[in-house]
Amino acid sequence: MTTPILIAVDGPAASGKGTLASLLAADYGLPFLDTGLLYRAAGHLAHVRNIDPAVAATLIDAQVLADEALRGREAGERASQVAALPEVRAALFKYQQDFANQSTGAVLDGRDIGTVIAPNARVKLFVTARPEVRAERRWKQLVQINPALTLEEVLSDIRIRDARDSGRSDAPLEMAKDALLLDTSDLGIDTAIATARSLVKSRL
Ligand code: C5P
Repeated sequence: MTTPILIAVDGPAASGKGTLASLLAADYGLPFLDTGLLYRAAGHLAHVRNIDPAVAATLIDAQVLADEALRGREAGERASQVAALPEVRAALFKYQQDFANQSTGAVLDGRDIGTVIAPNARVKLFVTARPEVRAERRWKQLVQINPALTLEEVLSDIRIRDARDSGRSDAPLEMAKDALLLDTSDLGIDTAIATARSLVKSRL
């Protein structure tokens, strides 16, 4: 039997890692998990139900994950706040690790996939871009639902989130030693996709 393909895609907010990870999953016919959505769900549930975020993390189900509010700006901010709590990370750990270790192989994207959740992953990509570039990409999405939102506000959110995600003591955002770096700052979407595909191929 061939070894299942496990691909870890990490990187900061709005780096394009989610788009690339879901395309790679489709390329190889692998199940895909956006782990940021779990933290968004935990933060959102804790807020709307006024409960402990670690308890909220145990209540996540398909219905919660389908909530459109999770895609918004507040959900991203709340996610990064609860993601700094070790008890929240612990509550979400097993689900992510089981997803990574399923016999089919898998693709997961997040902040700590290559370092903590799946340190044994065959392929690790670290997708990044300059904060200004990420802010502009994210702003173009968010302004559709919130026309009053400015680019400066999104850039400020991104800088705060980067600092919090990289500075926390439990599973900070960092590139795994054996990860391949993909900086998409100066790449169009087609080139970014082609580069991600060839990086993955180089490891398989
Ligand atoms: O990827 P996304 O922007 O949806 O993630 C939201 C937040 O969830 C991040 O800013 C980060 O704080 C947290 N997160 C994390 N570990 C992961 C995925 C996301 O801490 N594996």
